[in-house]
Amino acid sequence: MNWLTDFVKPKLSSLVTKRDSPSDLWTNCNKCNLMLYKSDLKENLFVCSHCDNHMNIDVNSRLLNLFNNDAYEIIDIPFENNDPLKFKDLKKYSDRMKDAQKKTDRKDAAVVAKGEIGNTQVVIFILDFNFMGGSMGQFVGEAFKIGCMKAIESNCPFISVASSGGARMQEGIVSLMQLPKTVAAVNMLDQNKIPYVSVLTHPTTGGVSASFAMLGDIIIAEKGSMIGFAGKRVIEETIKEQLPEDFQTAEYLLEHGMIDMVVHRKELNQSLSKVLSFVKK
Ligand SMILES: [Zn+2]
Repeated sequence: MNWLTDFVKPKLSSLVTKRDSPSDLWTNCNKCNLMLYKSDLKENLFVCSHCDNHMNIDVNSRLLNLFNNDAYEIIDIPFENNDPLKFKDLKKYSDRMKDAQKKTDRKDAAVVAKGEIGNTQVVIFILDFNFMGGSMGQFVGEAFKIGCMKAIESNCPFISVASSGGARMQEGIVSLMQLPKTVAAVNMLDQNKIPYVSVLTHPTTGGVSASFAMLGDIIIAEKGSMIGFAGKRVIEETIKEQLPEDFQTAEYLLEHGMIDMVVHRKELNQSLSKVLSFVKK
């Protein structure tokens, strides 16, 4: 070490270090295309200030928004490498997992946490859409079951927040087995008289909408979310009919009696605490 490494090199580095470029600071709304300042967008819970579009929100911001005083405890879910088919498409499933783990800093697509919403203690199961589209494989099914068991043990309501492309096809039949597994877990809640509130966010589709997500005692959807099983185009091609413009939106489902409430993201915490005060024993 000498003055060259201690003094000159840091000075030179600071001169050439990359400063925040506009793309680091700004992003575009994926609906109205308006340029939005990232820190303002985060402050606004990832809702476009111009067109009110509810954009993708990361799990940590979601948890901070839902729980009182930013306080919650993460419940650990045991992780096993599960690649029963040794699946490979353009990439190996094991490599896709590693990439997703690196990108999100999570073991898999589900998080279970415990904390308070309003005056009620709750257990929340939440899917991370940034982790392989929030797809449901063995870990996600197990996390859901553990979340339900924790709610029963703590005698408190259980909340799921879904955002998913469906079952994780890379795990083949094992991913499909998570559908009855999560349904059985919901049944377990029912037998133990534990209230279950399901929150559907954009998008909730495939095997997740075909299992636990549509089984809540109360089902709340975030404004503008796409909720359905198969895609609109697939259905149109099958039944040879054109479907309405707003088909598979939260608002359409509410109008047709499939869900109980459509809520703005900024009002989700308040609405949940109101709902929880009704269902509490
Ligand atoms: Zn917008």
